[in-house]
Order: sequence, then structure tokens, then C-alpha cells
Amino acid sequence: MKSALIAPHLCNEEAAMEYVESWLWPDGPVCPHCGNTDENKITHLEGEAHRPGLYQCNEPECRLQFTVTVGTVLERSKIPLTKWLAALSLMTASKKGVSAHQIHRMLGVSYKSAWFMMHRLREAMRTGGLEPLGGAGKIVEADETYFGKREEDYVSPYRRKPKSHAKSRNNRPIIALVERGGSVRSFHPGVADQYTVTEIVRENVARETMLHTDESKLYFNIKEHVAGHETVKHTAKEYVRGTIHTNTIENYFSVFKRGMRGVYQHCGEKHLHRYLAEFDFRYNNRAALGVNDADRADALAKGIVGKRLTYRRPHEQDIPF
Ligand SMILES: [Zn+2]
Repeated sequence: MKSALIAPHLCNEEAAMEYVESWLWPDGPVCPHCGNTDENKITHLEGEAHRPGLYQCNEPECRLQFTVTVGTVLERSKIPLTKWLAALSLMTASKKGVSAHQIHRMLGVSYKSAWFMMHRLREAMRTGGLEPLGGAGKIVEADETYFGKREEDYVSPYRRKPKSHAKSRNNRPIIALVERGGSVRSFHPGVADQYTVTEIVRENVARETMLHTDESKLYFNIKEHVAGHETVKHTAKEYVRGTIHTNTIENYFSVFKRGMRGVYQHCGEKHLHRYLAEFDFRYNNRAALGVNDADRADALAKGIVGKRLTYRRPHEQDIPF
């Protein structure tokens, strides 16, 4: 098999710029400073004197220079774009993730740079403002798990209730929702209690959905917010009853934990949500949904686009009435 790492956009800075331009500017360059898209008022500054992919905006009030990465997570990086793209394809191609040490060795960047790049790319994988999961006739499984010890002793905001969950006090909770045959969305809240879990379900699951969970107390009041709530009794060794189970979400958690233990030796608590975003991203762009490596890289690029700052559009402002 031909190595995926010899593609032109991974070896040549100019090709790398053009590659990202084709993602972010499908209809030609856009000035990120003023929103100008008029080809006649944008000059591509070519030649030895200029860095690759540099453009000049000729809108009289703007006259600023820009590249396609302005306003994205790749802006102002000293790391060549080819290396960013190589890191991106390594991260999106491996099911269980790749370590910063591997990126450091394979790409010849310092360990610190590798770690930094990976966190920025994970940041780009975080998706916000999404459509709710589920819907009429659909099933969403919800479950919680714990991963790693808390770095500081957790002080419960509900001190008057001394019987707070011991596991939740000392370990980092993760709540995840998965639509059967669809996407996953996971969260690292400060605490996994009934209130938090209810809020997460309310904000992320469509009302018409059937919710499947285990018999945990966390979901006692959840039926008010969904079309129906079915549970399997794990304590009674019941794992599947007809179509009722939480196997999909449990599989997701086991891929996450195996990946975290195998590849990421130590994960600081403040970064846990980013690792979750990375595993969510890979799950939501998995081969079973017909997504290949190239599509996954494209989906990530869209995440990067999402992080772009909004353009100012001065011409659209002063519309009277
Ligand atoms: Zn401009």
C-alpha cells in the first residue's frame, strides 16, 4: 500500500495551502478582514518574496494581507502547514488515537509542539450548537462512567446531603448519549448527579425519543423529558430485553478507555473534554457510516472552519428601515 504520508499536501507547503484553500474557499478567496470576495479586488502575491498562499485585499478601506488560515486554529503557527495536515491525517485515520510521542517522532517536531498541535486539532473536533440526537421512532442510550482520579478533592455544592456518591467524589465523571445507528455526544461535567444528567438529556435529546439506560438513580426523573424511558437491570444480570439495552454506549466507553490507557498515558483533567471530543469525532465519522479517512479529514476541516472568526460585512449594515 502506498503511504498516505507522501501526498503532495503533506510534503510541499504551497500544495498544503492550496489543499486547505479548496476546503475553506470552495468559491475562491475571501478576505477575513472585510469579507471581500471580489476576485478583481484580491491579488495573489506569488513568487520568492512571499510566503505561500499570501493574498492582498484591494478593497480601499481594507488593503490588508491574508492567508486561508487567518481566523482558524492554524493561524499564526510557526509549525509548517504540511505538518499540521500530517498530524491531522494520523489522528483521524487511527481508531484508537495516536500519542503525542508518535507524532513527535514521525513528523520530526518537538514533543511540546506535537502535544500543542494535537490539542488544537482536538479543539477543532469539538462541535457545538448541534441538532438534538434522536427523534420520533429513534432510540438514544444514555450512560455514565468514570475515568481517572480527580486532581483536587471535589467539594459538593450540596453539602447538606452527606450521602453523595463516593465514586463521583473521587473520580472524573463522563456522561454520554448515543443515538442507535447514529452519533455519540459525551460530556465531562463537574459532577454526575440527577440534575446535571437531566439537563444534558434535555438539551441534547429530542423530546420524541425513546431513552434507554441502566437502572441508575440518575435517570429517575428523565421520563418527563422524553417520549419514554426503558431500563435494563444490570444488578439482576439483565443486559438485553428485546431491543432494550445500553450495549452501544458501553462499547463506546470501552473504546474510549482502551484508547486512553493504551495511547494517552496521562491526561490532565482540564483536557479530558478535548479527548472526549476526539473519540466522539472518530465515532461520529466511522467507517460504518460510510466515512473514509479522506472524508474524516474533510469533516475535521469543517470543524476548523467553524472556529473561524465571523467576518465583518460593512456593506450589509446600514440598511434603513
Ligand atoms: Zn479586505
